[in-house]
Amino acid sequence: MEKKNIFARIQEMEIQMGHMHSELGELKLVIKELLEDNHRLSLENEQLRKVFKREVQSAESDKATPQEPPELIKDEENGEDVVGEGYDNLARLYHEGFHICNVYYGHLRTEGDCLFCLSFLNK
Ligand SMILES: [Zn+2]
Repeated sequence: MEKKNIFARIQEMEIQMGHMHSELGELKLVIKELLEDNHRLSLENEQLRKVFKREVQSAESDKATPQEPPELIKDEENGEDVVGEGYDNLARLYHEGFHICNVYYGHLRTEGDCLFCLSFLNK
């Protein structure tokens, strides 16, 4: 093999390695995002399971006196109480760690208080 040829091949390999290196960097970023998503979703899932379990338990204890779904109660005269109840539910959801703002509604709050949620609660 000629010397010139060897240098050309080495140079080519260097270029290829550069490409691979940047590709590896991109893949690492993707993996990082996936791991973060996974972590966030695990927390959200765990929290939702807790809420769901508690709802099921309270539904079972309410079986003796079945309640109408909220949509049906809304039209009745005590509309204000229903609104208050809806507010309480949202406030509870917020304190359980979920967003209730229309920006991130239903997502787990991972970074402490959310200004959108708080301004919604203070309305
Ligand atoms: Zn929020």
